[in-house]
Amino acid sequence: MTAAIPESMRRGVIERAQGCCEYCGKPQVTFFAHEIDHVIARKHGGQTELENLAFACFECNRYSAAPE
Ligand SMILES: [Zn+2]
Repeated sequence: MTAAIPESMRRGVIERAQGCCEYCGKPQVTFFAHEIDHVIARKHGGQTELENLAFACFECNRYSAAPE
């Protein structure tokens, strides 16, 4: 689950990514919306800041999710 990310920060990440997944470069399609992903999970000390956020497609976002 994605923690709350300020709208201005979300826009910044999407702008930097130019609407494409920052892991695999896939452009966002309408069927599965891309998500903002924490590169270092918050539970591992990752901060909610531009440097630690990535625009990720459904697949990359799913694979990056650490198992509980
Ligand atoms: Zn991807």
